[in-house]
Amino acid sequence: MFAGLGYNSSIMKLDHVGIAVTSIEQSRRFYESGLGLPAAPHTEEVAGEKVRVLKLECADPTHIELIESASPDSAIAKFIEKRGPGLHHLCYQTGDIVADIARLKSQGFTPLWDAPRPGADGCLVMFFHPKETFGVLTELAQKSR
Ligand code: ZN
Repeated sequence: MFAGLGYNSSIMKLDHVGIAVTSIEQSRRFYESGLGLPAAPHTEEVAGEKVRVLKLECADPTHIELIESASPDSAIAKFIEKRGPGLHHLCYQTGDIVADIARLKSQGFTPLWDAPRPGADGCLVMFFHPKETFGVLTELAQKSR
């Protein structure tokens, strides 16, 4: 904790770091054997985003997500085409995604969609474009209850 700030349980936690990869099979070796991060037993297909995702445990609750395109017209495929594989987005956990989106909107930050959508792990998610977030694609995720 930062001195003087005290602990506030409502501060958002970093949920995951999304990393765009051309191949989960090829890149997982670095994270699993190299860094020793335990991988989820299976990759998950996120149909809405046309991607496959492999989660690797980091410090709780943060994890690493390797994201591979499942279709040439996915946002991840376009990202890799333009910028190459690498750091794609940061995701913060929220307890109330609707309220957090409303607050960000009231401060002039425009969410990517009209309403949150289903993401990996049954979460509800929303993204904010790097144009408005000083260069970092930012995701909010609310766990399903
Ligand atoms: Zn994500």
